[in-house]
Amino acid sequence: MRVTVLTIGDEIVSGHTLDTNAAYLSGRLAELGFRVGRIVSVGDRIGEVRAELEAAIADSDLVLVTGGLGPTHDDVTKQALAEAAGVALVLDRDLHALLKRRFAAGPGVRPEVIESLSTVPQGARALENPLGAAAGLEIGIGAARVYAMPGVPREMEAVFDAAIADELDALPKRCFSRSRVIRTIGLRESEITEKLEHTVPSLDVDVGFLPGTYGVDLRLVGSGSDGPAATEKLEKAARLIENVLGMSVYSTEGEDLHDVVGKMLIARAVTIAVAESCTGGLISHLLTQVPGISASFERGDVTYSNRAKIDCLGVGEALIRDHGAVSREVAEAMARGVRQTAGTDIGISTTGIAGPTGGSEPKPVGLVYVGLAHDGGCAVKEVVFRGTRRIVKLRAAMLALDLARRHLSSKGV
Ligand code: ATP
Ligand code: MG
Repeated sequence: MRVTVLTIGDEIVSGHTLDTNAAYLSGRLAELGFRVGRIVSVGDRIGEVRAELEAAIADSDLVLVTGGLGPTHDDVTKQALAEAAGVALVLDRDLHALLKRRFAAGPGVRPEVIESLSTVPQGARALENPLGAAAGLEIGIGAARVYAMPGVPREMEAVFDAAIADELDALPKRCFSRSRVIRTIGLRESEITEKLEHTVPSLDVDVGFLPGTYGVDLRLVGSGSDGPAATEKLEKAARLIENVLGMSVYSTEGEDLHDVVGKMLIARAVTIAVAESCTGGLISHLLTQVPGISASFERGDVTYSNRAKIDCLGVGEALIRDHGAVSREVAEAMARGVRQTAGTDIGISTTGIAGPTGGSEPKPVGLVYVGLAHDGGCAVKEVVFRGTRRIVKLRAAMLALDLARRHLSSKGV
């Protein structure tokens, strides 16, 4: 079955609004066993909308349209559907009665607006919109079945869920697909592809590599004759990939790194304190996003100046003078210092040059040290990150969280 999603609106083609409707519909259609062959977006001009509708109808069995169903002059979808079907717009009496009843309860809406909202292309069926005034529509044009939904995402989702999903589910099937995201940190995309060179071809799933700001995600899509069959393929593939990539995989369920680390801390009843310089509190912010983290997170000090490092963490003045605030030695002293002052199981620290200024020959912009102090000693990692100030901060925070994750993993449950 050939499926096209057509999203309508000047705000989409101008780049002002991200086309989340198409993403939502493609995902839901995949769950229901349909593969979307094409996503098309078009502005609000009636001629262009009609042309794209006709093109979609000509080569698809199913066309899902969003946007332009409202009563304003820029809402042209109903007119374009009517023209493509070669029919007139007519008043849907049931819809008219329903909308009149609904609007009677609230602030005044002009009768001609209610009337405009109640017109449908002749032969179309109105689909109730539980969250708004613009109803959805279903109409057969040529060999295609066309569904039109309002543009506002929550209304679109409501109409799809209430009126369309079940109808599509009843259509002859098709192939079910499921997806999941494996998240990694610490390996470059090229290193991952190399490691997985022999594994990927043997997997019965599609694998996409999505490099991000601080790690590479692998998106797996598995297909099968039903949902559970597709899920089983995914699970098998995820296990195999995790075996090859080992500790670099921090989630096979698409979780964020701070959630993974936070949950590990809580599950293992490990307490943590954080001393941050170049990350400016970002690690503390991320950890405190995790529900229940108060059981593990004792404190986060933003010790930005030398004086703060000396006063709050007990870092030696001479150490800073001899090695500089951005140094292996100071990162270690910060991690040990915060662990000791807070009395926690582990202490982590960051110090670095986020840029764009402040770099030098021996200490370039992007140079970051992260430290992790624990009962058995202290580990420090040195990295030079490339990127803007924001990116260096984010990468440094993630590196520190990852250091904690690896430490917690090595200690088992
Ligand atoms: P309404 O009756 O609310 O006007 P409508 O069907 O006419 O419904 P539009 O006017 O096309 O909908 O869009 C309303 C708003 O919904 C837009 O301003 C935009 O913010 C959002 N929207 C529309 N299409 C999309 C899309 N494809 N993805 C994300 N948001 C969208
Ligand atoms: Mg509108």
